Amino acid sequence: MKSQKEELGTIRGMRDLVGTDATVFEHIVQCLTKVVKNYGYHRIETPILEYTSVFARTLGETTDVVSKEMFSFNDRSNKHVSLRPEGTASIVRALLTNKLTQTLPQRWFYYGPMFRYDRPQKGRYRQFYQFGIECLGVKSPLADVEAIAAAYAVFQALYISDFQLRINSVGDAASRKQYRAKLVDYFSRYKSELSEDSQRRLTTNPLRILDSKEACDQKIAQNAPSIFNSLTPEALVFFEQVLEGLSALNIPFQQDRLLVRGLDYYDHTTFEITTKLDGKDDSIALVGGGRYNGLVKQMGGPSIPAVGWAFGLDRLMLALTSHIPTPSQIAVLFVSDAEKYPALQLANHLRSKLSIPVLFPTDGDFMKRLKYSNKLGVSCVLIVGEDEVAKRSIKCKFFRAVGAFTSGQEISLAHSDITTLLFPLFNAG
Ligand code: AMP
Repeated sequence: MKSQKEELGTIRGMRDLVGTDATVFEHIVQCLTKVVKNYGYHRIETPILEYTSVFARTLGETTDVVSKEMFSFNDRSNKHVSLRPEGTASIVRALLTNKLTQTLPQRWFYYGPMFRYDRPQKGRYRQFYQFGIECLGVKSPLADVEAIAAAYAVFQALYISDFQLRINSVGDAASRKQYRAKLVDYFSRYKSELSEDSQRRLTTNPLRILDSKEACDQKIAQNAPSIFNSLTPEALVFFEQVLEGLSALNIPFQQDRLLVRGLDYYDHTTFEITTKLDGKDDSIALVGGGRYNGLVKQMGGPSIPAVGWAFGLDRLMLALTSHIPTPSQIAVLFVSDAEKYPALQLANHLRSKLSIPVLFPTDGDFMKRLKYSNKLGVSCVLIVGEDEVAKRSIKCKFFRAVGAFTSGQEISLAHSDITTLLFPLFNAG
């Protein structure tokens, strides 16, 4: 029998976002949304649950995500379904389902929970959150440059300064075919020294050995042949143009020939932006992405070039050190029960006029509600007592300096002057 604790607790690797965590999460999503909208992206929402084949066929049957990490099960009609482990496959599915391949380009952004049955640790969860963009139908390397520039702008918007852009090209299909043969040749010489997973990858997908997290694989991968010698002239020119574009925007980058990324669908550009947390030596990826020109066709559609990225929001939360400004809010207080309805009406009226939160504490006596409002950090309280109701006015007590008013200042205001005074104070900007 399951213990009570197990049944009523959270599932391993899944967590609630409460208090500051929830506030930081919301702030990050707002910042990302603002940035990507500036780059012309529009919101798309796809289901969290999809047929397993949407992911298995696209991410690669042999990738870790598909072979070990998916939350998959048969539904009540015995259909094999999975919780989405990432966003791109669903987006491409949505492009085809909604017959949008003739109305290109499409620039979409999405965010929400993703699920991978990975070993949970700091910054790695089984339910985690991604925010991503996908630019479908643009083949120019400038689209890669702009996508990376948007990711770069997110760091600036969140005031994260300690990060590094790593970039590579995994070439086109012809480049990879050539490169694969060279890699098999090289790694076969060290087969017995490779991890069990990488020994398997040697036949399934040797490129993935390059970004293995196992120390024994990493040591051997260091001296593996570079993809640059296998890039076709077209793939090389494409990559050079991406790098030139980044330089034109003064975006610093570091080339990393081992960066192939974990999913099968990438070609040409792959990139990651990494950071080091709390002075630790290991860097973690906050965002990863690249080009995937073959994916739409692989899912049964026409050949459509595409590029995109996904931020890991849980990791972005860990990396965020800047102070998040708390928005101003005000509270309306009634002195005794006799004034509760005029106060209730005032609060409701102000909410339709002001763009800041208007709180209406109800429990406890007046002094308790006054202290509670102060504790919440409201900028001012609007007090409705017997006198105020009789004179059709309110008392306004400032807890913080706002505009020309000082902290602690009290003023009396006629009803007709309330919004004319408060509006410019709290609706500016
Ligand atoms: P991927 O979809 O694997 O390319 O990952 C994109 C980004 O999502 C990574 O750079 C991470 O920031 C984040 N991410 C991936 N897996 C996890 C996880 N299990 N927990 C938290 N964040 C993750």
